Amino acid sequence: MTDIRIDVAVIGAGPAGVAAGIGAREAGAEHVVVFERDWDLGGILQQCIHPGFGLHTFKEELTGPEYMHRWIERAHGAGVTFRTNTMVFRMEEDGSFWTMNPNEGIRHVHAGAIVLGMGCRERPLGAIRVPGSRPAGIYTAGTAQRFVNMEGYMPGNRVVVLGSGDIGLIMARRMMWEGASVEGVFEIMSWPGGLRRNIAQCLDDYGIPFYLDHTVTRVHGKDRLEGVTVAKVDANKKPILGTERFVACDTLLLAVGLIPENELSRMAGVQIHPVTGGPVVNQCLQTTRENVFAAGNVVIVYDLVDWVSAEGYKAGKNAALFALDGLPKATRRFDVRGGENVRLFSPQWLSDQEDATIFLRVTKPVEQRCRVTADHGLFSKTLRYARPGEMNEVHIKAEQLRMLPPDVREITVDVEEE
Ligand SMILES: Cc1cc2nc3c(=O)[nH]c(=O)nc-3n(C[C@H](O)[C@H](O)[C@H](O)COP(=O)(O)OP(=O)(O)OC[C@H]3O[C@@H](n4cnc5c(N)ncnc54)[C@H](O)[C@@H]3O)c2cc1C
Repeated sequence: MTDIRIDVAVIGAGPAGVAAGIGAREAGAEHVVVFERDWDLGGILQQCIHPGFGLHTFKEELTGPEYMHRWIERAHGAGVTFRTNTMVFRMEEDGSFWTMNPNEGIRHVHAGAIVLGMGCRERPLGAIRVPGSRPAGIYTAGTAQRFVNMEGYMPGNRVVVLGSGDIGLIMARRMMWEGASVEGVFEIMSWPGGLRRNIAQCLDDYGIPFYLDHTVTRVHGKDRLEGVTVAKVDANKKPILGTERFVACDTLLLAVGLIPENELSRMAGVQIHPVTGGPVVNQCLQTTRENVFAAGNVVIVYDLVDWVSAEGYKAGKNAALFALDGLPKATRRFDVRGGENVRLFSPQWLSDQEDATIFLRVTKPVEQRCRVTADHGLFSKTLRYARPGEMNEVHIKAEQLRMLPPDVREITVDVEEE
């Protein structure tokens, strides 16, 4: 076992981690290492071979691997070191951590600052408690995406998708392209989980039936899936008796939500937010352990990868400044509160050191003009609509925060109909 000392360590080489490596190097950290358990760089974007990435960053429509290729080239140019096939399996409360690599064995890494960039994973069938046996043929949409796009396997021929998250919508179309029939997408909520553009481009364009207020109430089959029972749900999301019907299928794809991957964050002792499932951070992406920063889907599930890369870069830059003793100390702290129609938001507190962008998601869709605001007159913007699948942004300047009266300790963000 060897001890290693570096300036900034990044865990995970997805879009957040790669950008964090660049941010750390460009802010002056000498020895910046990104640790990745996979054999290749890029995180989930390796398997996202459809276009639609990078419109904000590059003003071009790229596939996931194309988008990552640009960031990885930039990281190599900036002098970031990558350690692939290297799993971080344990963290200590001082921020040091342990890695395992088949060639190098176990190492204990001490860094001036750490960036957590472990991404998220998908909710499995067990998490939504669907009764029935557990035959072959039930996959998360992301697992099926990896099989089809990277490993060259088809999960099945007759497909039902449960949940209308973006990965499920994209996979419904992908399975059609590969010759499968897609019997339908069933969504328990009264509105789609994914982006409207994905409903149009992945379902409507291919004639795939889409059922809101529906769920799967049972899976059938012993060795291989033979079908599912679907039913309409009431306002309390309980299946309505008499609406059940059997849908024959050999494959059920689950697109029922993503969970930030925070086992390591918990070991490091950082505070986890009960609603986002990610670390509590400020706009510098600093967690409640001052030497530990976090970015990307490990913090909050973003809708666009461009935001993930931008937040990753910022986390890396601030981690480097912390390691070099150059991160300005906060003199004031403001807790962010979610008000009217706000379900998720990040960061959860603001310091007065740096300009802030608060990302937030609404609880219910508003299909008319509405306003997103931060109180004390800090921000107000009119939106044409606000939907749960899409992030909204609130921008606040550090100078505005510094000018707030001394008794202001909270900032509430709201989304209200006009
Ligand atoms: C299955 C799936 C499909 C998706 N498809 C799309 C899509 O089509 N379009 C879209 O815009 N967004 C998609 N997303 C959202 C996408 O995750 C984000 O846009 C983006 O990839 C998030 O970047 P990240 O760096 O935070 O996480 P990831 O891309 O998930 O990267 C995290 C990295 O951390 C590594 N890691 C985790 N734990 C450890 C550890 N202990 N030790 C070492 N390494 C570790 C992982 O191996 C991974 O490489 C998808 C997400 C998932 C889960």
